Amino acid sequence: MRTMIQILGILIALAGLSVLLYALERLFPSVRGQPLWRRDSNLDVLYWFLTPLVTRTILKIVSLVSVVVMFAALDRQGAVPLTEGFGPVASQPLWLVSVELFLVGDLIGYWTHRWFHQRRLWKFHAVHHSSTRLDWLSALRVHPVNDVVSKLVPAVLLACLGFPVQALAGYVVLLTFYTILLHANVDWSYGPLRYVVASPVFHRWHHTTEEHGLNKNFAPLFPFVDLLFGTFFMPNRQRPERFGTNTAEVPETFLGQLLFPFRTNKAAGRGVAGSPALDVAPATCFLDPETRNVRAWIEKLDAPRSAPTCHRPPISRKARAKKSVRVPVEAD
Ligand SMILES: [Zn+2]
Ligand SMILES: [Zn+2]
Repeated sequence: MRTMIQILGILIALAGLSVLLYALERLFPSVRGQPLWRRDSNLDVLYWFLTPLVTRTILKIVSLVSVVVMFAALDRQGAVPLTEGFGPVASQPLWLVSVELFLVGDLIGYWTHRWFHQRRLWKFHAVHHSSTRLDWLSALRVHPVNDVVSKLVPAVLLACLGFPVQALAGYVVLLTFYTILLHANVDWSYGPLRYVVASPVFHRWHHTTEEHGLNKNFAPLFPFVDLLFGTFFMPNRQRPERFGTNTAEVPETFLGQLLFPFRTNKAAGRGVAGSPALDVAPATCFLDPETRNVRAWIEKLDAPRSAPTCHRPPISRKARAKKSVRVPVEAD
């Protein structure tokens, strides 16, 4: 009975979001002419059922285990301190706790996401990047392991810092809904707020296979976190048009995608080693002497480009000699 109610809730949510987001995609398209219903839209609909019905259950169980472990580690009794927060955070006014929660949550979210672009975890995350025609429906195409880990890591770390568990639950729900908009085929960059709040254009650059946009824009909500770590990319009046993965041949079937990260490289096919820039040192735009002139830096960020312009660490002669080494594209 409970499952039936959940399925009904998903169908209602899908219907409501379809009306709203298909209208936005039709009125403000980023990629013009993209069909509202794609060849692989059926696949994405399956994820809309997998995530709330299965992944969320796994997340609840893992969260419960984490809470028990945290209680033991923090030597606390009863659930009250953890649900209401503790330490210096709990004594602050609600507005300040909220601001801190969003800022610290984004920092943790940034590095968790960037972590999934590294060699070992890339195959889990490649499933999310496998949509070649990005729209709102593809937002929930996330492997359960990717989904559980990327929600659990920030939640556990924030709970350990003393943030109330109830506030964390609200934060995760809000982020999930906002993420749906970020994937929509909508040409919104938020103008002067482009560096402050993540927009659909900001996150769609993260999904591009175009070389100058690879491994950029990891932040869940605040682009200035990417500015801080040298991975921001959102040139003015330029939009990404190609999406997907350059390196991982992700299957197009639902079961194939769920099993994909567990298959050996040989079985999974050619070129599945990892994220497009996995052997490249982190970008250093933030420390680049040229960027100390803030105005010039902003102009440089806004300029349309066909190649990376940020400073990149030199690649060694030995690495150059290796044919397999990619040309660095200013990312991790
Ligand atoms: Zn990613
Ligand atoms: Zn995404």
